[in-house]
Amino acid sequence: MIHQIYPQVFHNFRYELNKDMQIAAAHFIPHEAAGKCANVHGHTYFVNITIAGDELDESGFLINFQQLKKIVHGKFDHTLINDHTDLFSNTRAEDFPTTEVVARKIAEIVQAHLDTLPNRPTCVQVFVRESPTSYVVYRPKAGNR
Ligand SMILES: [Zn+2]
Repeated sequence: MIHQIYPQVFHNFRYELNKDMQIAAAHFIPHEAAGKCANVHGHTYFVNITIAGDELDESGFLINFQQLKKIVHGKFDHTLINDHTDLFSNTRAEDFPTTEVVARKIAEIVQAHLDTLPNRPTCVQVFVRESPTSYVVYRPKAGNR
């Protein structure tokens, strides 16, 4: 079980939902400036996804927790992140699988799913902890989607 306090994101929606998940995955950063991180290595990522919205669906959910886990954990757990060439690149820095980019890609995957829901919730924050001492917070900019 994960117990952790996450940074708050400010918004005006009525409902806010947070989903935690742990993802065991490997990656490498394909750049010489990455030092040791240029070698394949693994992390147990702690991910927190924040979804907000004003309306619930016909089940009374903002989004189904299980569905959210399936589209993120189900995609990345026990994989080499670099292998997801639909999302990541080994040649474009903005698509290297750094913690920053992993957080952004998770937000994009989640928002693409949310856009298919009738109640149209919004992913307002993705928190990705890569190690006990390092984490990233990604907040999609309003109007960017
Ligand atoms: Zn790493």
